[in-house]
Amino acid sequence: MAKITLDNLAHSYYPNPKGEDDFALKELNHDWTDGEAYALLGSSGCGKSTLLNIISGLLHPSQGRILFDGHDVTHATTANRNIAQVFQFPVVYDTMTVRDNLAFPLKNRGADPKYIAERVQQIGRMIGMEAELDNRARGLTADAKQKISLGRGMVREDVNALLFDEPLTVIDPHMKWELRTQLKSLHHEFGHTMIYVTHDQTEALTFADKVVVMYDGRVVQIGTPQELFERPEHTFVGYFIGSPGMNVIPAEVSGKMANVHGASLTLDRGYAALDGKVEIGVRPEFVSLTQGEGLPVNVRRVEDVGRHKIVRADLFGSEINIVASEDQVISPDMNRVTFDPKHVNVYVNDWIEEGEAA
Ligand code: ADP
Ligand code: MG
Repeated sequence: MAKITLDNLAHSYYPNPKGEDDFALKELNHDWTDGEAYALLGSSGCGKSTLLNIISGLLHPSQGRILFDGHDVTHATTANRNIAQVFQFPVVYDTMTVRDNLAFPLKNRGADPKYIAERVQQIGRMIGMEAELDNRARGLTADAKQKISLGRGMVREDVNALLFDEPLTVIDPHMKWELRTQLKSLHHEFGHTMIYVTHDQTEALTFADKVVVMYDGRVVQIGTPQELFERPEHTFVGYFIGSPGMNVIPAEVSGKMANVHGASLTLDRGYAALDGKVEIGVRPEFVSLTQGEGLPVNVRRVEDVGRHKIVRADLFGSEINIVASEDQVISPDMNRVTFDPKHVNVYVNDWIEEGEAA
């Protein structure tokens, strides 16, 4: 297992990149702590696979270095980096049995046959295929083949890191949950450094200790699920994480006051003069629907989602979402909203502004 350092890393698929837009991965400096479980989260095309393939050695970066425990491996092959990687679609040897597929990485490294037999049995159990170990892989469903790929990725205990690139895409929804739980227990048991790529926030937030959020080739925030929820550093993190996402509202901010279309509200922190696109961000969980005080809204729709209600309203022509408790009565005269000042963030050109504690 190893700490992985990305030093000034960037990648363009063009031979002569002209500007930032030509980079699929914008410059990045980061340490992946040894033994942590990370999720790499972002929409399709934001650069997740590019970054993962650079870490595994499948792709050579156009700029920067990768270090494992301080040793430069930028030019080392995948095999020499001692990494296991599982891809979106199954990679199995059709003519081999399930057992031999699982045993392959261990045999390759000359492991003891007795150990191989035990370990393969154990992995077979984890992926729910113990009964099929002696079947040939040919003819199995895509779902079953992907479980074999996952199992083969997990079979070695001595790898520097385990990398997963949207590995559950072809797995049926019920088994997805099961396998994700298995991966998590595997992490607890062996403490491998794990990097798990996904575009699904639920998958990321339930799997990882730390979530790395990417947007348009850039890492916009690295944090615990709680940090991403409470303090999104970029408006994209606010939108992308949470359901519904953070409300982002154009505002003028001066000192401790924010002005939204002529209506003012008091902030928890003070801000110096701000230049650029200024917005306030507040999660639906920290907005209250009231009567009498606050910003004026028109309620459009109330959705009951079980544990709570989501109120969709209109605030000066833009949608605002409010989370209300299951038992709150939404009466027609509720036409104002208030925000919990502690949970109102200020953004300038999409990045959070610190402000000063008042
Ligand atoms: P993700 O895994 O987040 O969906 P990728 O890392 O695959 O994103 O892609 C990031 C960007 O790089 C996309 O714009 C994609 O079209 C581009 N890209 C990916 N692979 C190649 C390639 N082999 N050649 C050229 N462009 C590529
Ligand atoms: Mg990808």
